Amino acid sequence: MPEIYLDNNATTRIDPEVLEEMLPYLRDAFGNASSVHAAGRRSRRAVEEAREQVAELLGASEPDEIVFTSGGTESDTAAVEGAAAVRAPGRILLCAAEHPAVVRAAERLEGRGFTLERLPLCRSGEIDLGALEELRAGSAACVCVMAANNEFGGVFPVARIGALCRARGILFHTDAVQAAGKVPFDVVRVGADLASVSAHKIHGPKGVGALYVRKGVDLPPLLPGGGQERGRRGGTENVAAIVGFGAASRLARQRRDSEGPLIAARRNRLEERIRQGIPGALIWGEGVERLPNTSAVSFPGASGQSILIRLDLEGILVSVGSACSSGTLAPSPAILALGASPEEALGTVRFSLSRETTDAEIERVAALLPDVARQAGCPGPA
Ligand code: PLP
Repeated sequence: MPEIYLDNNATTRIDPEVLEEMLPYLRDAFGNASSVHAAGRRSRRAVEEAREQVAELLGASEPDEIVFTSGGTESDTAAVEGAAAVRAPGRILLCAAEHPAVVRAAERLEGRGFTLERLPLCRSGEIDLGALEELRAGSAACVCVMAANNEFGGVFPVARIGALCRARGILFHTDAVQAAGKVPFDVVRVGADLASVSAHKIHGPKGVGALYVRKGVDLPPLLPGGGQERGRRGGTENVAAIVGFGAASRLARQRRDSEGPLIAARRNRLEERIRQGIPGALIWGEGVERLPNTSAVSFPGASGQSILIRLDLEGILVSVGSACSSGTLAPSPAILALGASPEEALGTVRFSLSRETTDAEIERVAALLPDVARQAGCPGPA
């Protein structure tokens, strides 16, 4: 039986077209993009073309607003550290379900005079913006709210948050690692000052991402190094990976509107079958706007880890919590942020689909799940 991969929020398979476009830069076109000779200029051209493709995916006004990084984690860290460096110590408001890349970076600032405040979520998945609405102009250093959540797929009202921040002169960073390429996301419409993206979530290579830095926002670099990326991120550019990111961005932009509804239909079918076959199963964020590919399901009385292992034995690959914290049995902070009890959080499994997921795969998973859930402790039908 071929494996069924339903862990696309952790990472995706590289698209063959992306790989094809990268290969010349791994083989013959090896010039350093900073070199002035012909080989260097070839690499530079490739990097600048990719920058335009990423800028188009994000709706950036200018390609120069895109700074290439090593991925989402670096972009998030550079954004938070950068915002802290240009704003006086004060309050930092974070969405309670933010990715650890943002949370850990923000927590490091606590020792440097900043205070962190969480914008809470309701059990439905909605974010409570009360604290943000009440902020006086300039009374916080920055606000970080992800565009879409990696665990339950909730899409947050970032355009509204951007407008609230803009009106108060507060820097707004949004982690768009899961949103970009999956749902409409446009930095200008959102009013973001800073936005993080990562190639490997959209069928690009791992270890490359970007930070959108709105023109006029001047942040010190996290890695000054040799002054690459116009002094905003040092280090010799990973040309092949950047080319792959550009290609993946172009493909995501071309395919998003046609593929999104097909992926959502398969996800909805899976959820429908879970509701029918597993009484008491709870789908997080069911009533709010979600990524089309994501479903986080809490199986009553069962351990998510046990379901994961049983599915793995059947060749079905899913996740519990975020991939980065797998291996620990701590309940997922993002699911707890929804008001889940520790048992509900520990009983949660994430299914994340991609354009490669087929109807037949969904059928097989849906057919197996009721038995698997029962073996893992979930009560059967009454
Ligand atoms: N932000 C979100 C929302 C993510 O889902 C991830 C990856 O899981 C990251 C940031 C980190 O991205 P990367 O793996 O490229 O460092």
